[in-house]
Amino acid sequence: MPRQLFVTTALPYANGNFHIGHIMEYIQADIWVRFQRMQGHAVNFVGADDTHGAPIMIAAEKAGITPQQFVANIAAGRKPYLDGFHIAFDNWHSTDAPENHALAQQIYRDLKANGLISSKVIEQFFDPEKNMFLPDRFIKGECPKCHAKDQYGDNCEVCGSVYAPTDLINPYSALSGATPELKSSEHLFFQLSDPRCVEFLEGWTQDGRLQPEVANKVKEWFTVRTNADGTTSEGLGDWDISRDAPYFGIEIPDAPGKYFYVWLDAPVGYLASLKNLLDKRGEDFEAYMAQPALEQYHFIGKDIVTFHTLFWPAMLKFSGRKTPDSIFVHGFLTVNNGEKMSKSRGTGLDPLKYLGLGMNPEWLRYYIAAKLSARNEDIDFNADDFMARVNSDLIGKYVNIASRAAGFLAKRFAGKLSALSASSAELISAISSQKESVSSLYEQREYAKALRETMLLTDRVNAYVDANKPWELAKKEGMDAELQDVCSTCIEAFRLLTIYLKPVLPALAAQVEAFLNVTPMGFAEADTLLGAGHTIGNYQHLMQRVDVKQLDALFEAPAQAESTVAATETIVPGGAEIAPVITIDDFAKIDLRIAKIVNCEAVEGSTKLLRLTLDVGEGSTRNVFSGIAAHYQPDQLIGKLTVMVANLAPRKMKFGLSEGMVLAASHADAKAQPGIYVLEPFPGAQPGMRIG
Ligand SMILES: [Zn+2]
Repeated sequence: MPRQLFVTTALPYANGNFHIGHIMEYIQADIWVRFQRMQGHAVNFVGADDTHGAPIMIAAEKAGITPQQFVANIAAGRKPYLDGFHIAFDNWHSTDAPENHALAQQIYRDLKANGLISSKVIEQFFDPEKNMFLPDRFIKGECPKCHAKDQYGDNCEVCGSVYAPTDLINPYSALSGATPELKSSEHLFFQLSDPRCVEFLEGWTQDGRLQPEVANKVKEWFTVRTNADGTTSEGLGDWDISRDAPYFGIEIPDAPGKYFYVWLDAPVGYLASLKNLLDKRGEDFEAYMAQPALEQYHFIGKDIVTFHTLFWPAMLKFSGRKTPDSIFVHGFLTVNNGEKMSKSRGTGLDPLKYLGLGMNPEWLRYYIAAKLSARNEDIDFNADDFMARVNSDLIGKYVNIASRAAGFLAKRFAGKLSALSASSAELISAISSQKESVSSLYEQREYAKALRETMLLTDRVNAYVDANKPWELAKKEGMDAELQDVCSTCIEAFRLLTIYLKPVLPALAAQVEAFLNVTPMGFAEADTLLGAGHTIGNYQHLMQRVDVKQLDALFEAPAQAESTVAATETIVPGGAEIAPVITIDDFAKIDLRIAKIVNCEAVEGSTKLLRLTLDVGEGSTRNVFSGIAAHYQPDQLIGKLTVMVANLAPRKMKFGLSEGMVLAASHADAKAQPGIYVLEPFPGAQPGMRIG
């Protein structure tokens, strides 16, 4: 019986393009979905943009467009990434779509009818200039624990502590700079602390469906206890699910001026995208979801476990709906030096740049798969390791098997395979007998192990080729049968190995199927052979090697904030030659903006750096380190306008994160002419204006 599977990835927040962290998750899920389909199972695999909430509302306002237009623009940019990396969602939808409004409101009504919605008046920070309640991320101030300045309202990026926005010392609105006022408002709560919810979740999270390390982490959240630092953990608390207007979101039924908190309607988007897909196909959504054997899985990152293991299953359960069979949690992807990829700041490996350089998307799929296990643990993209694995394993061990055999078969035997000798058949049966083991590793999302087993099999095939030396057999008289046997064995083996790699390398597998003259293969095809008399097509080179120049270009280091000055040398003829000509398109890649220096201070422990707090009109401020401490006193800069590179990848420095670069002029020979001159625009320029 084919299984019925409903699979999703987490919904990306529609305030920016995909970064490599998204692509890793989609590749992980796509491999699993392709594997299930190769087993003959029926899968619906959907995604959607997570569109609601204050950050998008504020970003749209800054851009002078409606939030709907803003998220439509983001959605329009998704396709090149998904197509480019062979990520085959059946549907891509939006949490602002009508299906999601209807489903979220219905789930709320069902929870309310079940007595699980309550209301409470809470005190919250209100921006008196913007006339709105401030989300945590738009309140900044001094960390109550380590006293780092300019920290967000929910947690400190310097010491990592988590607190309430009201704990911040000298809080200010990141939108207007105004001091926020405490104001009370009635909020709606989902009563997660209700004994029914607690009992259900204690069972649901601990019954073996979750990864053990995830289940253990979740267990802590149920416990009322005193922590090592003296604070107490309360167990499950009620969840605040409403936000006051103005808010871009879904209106709460019978509660004028109140909207669902974005995290209430975001996971409902999984169902909305599925419903949209089934409606388009003329299938019944309710009937599909009501199938007793339907399995539901969500691939997510470790940063959103709470939402998916507590709120989401409880919402589904107590609105009378099916709950997920499991939540598959993965870690973060770090790049090269271990720089963290977070949701809000993607750095390091730009997926579109990767494709734009002509790098093969299946190299990345293979590499990521070769690192992934079923555990919730971080993986690292290392450029040298990437090149070694692709060039030595994928091409050197696997692709070469076909290229070594195909030529002889075409030239000498018109592409026809022979029956296999006993010793050759033994090798082939050793490979096909690994089918269960490899497929069970894919099922368990142990991709690294599945590929390791497959590569061990390629080693056996290559040892067989080296022992039988077809290139020598080809030169000897009367050895045709032996030559055809060895080459046929290579092709049979290559076909089996291709089946094992196909979930990871779908495009390459399609090329191989064309070359072998076979219909698309599933795992069941590993039980049969092509057999004597089968004629293969012409071999064409299947995959290029990674060129180190591509990796150099991919990771071309952005200029560091400490050397900001050097970056401007090339555009001022002050002792340095004018740089090679670039096109207007090259220039347009650099997003230069007018920035207001709202604060500037010395950096303890550095004689070179000043820490600048910049407003580029995006509703929050940026932190930038600049190597100008020897030339400016902080007071000289505060309140001034300058020019910054606004789209430079953020850099983690010893003293914190630098989110851009300020432009300054200097002479190439700093010893002879040591001055450094920060740029300042003519009067009238406003923070956020683009320079070009
Ligand atoms: Zn802190």
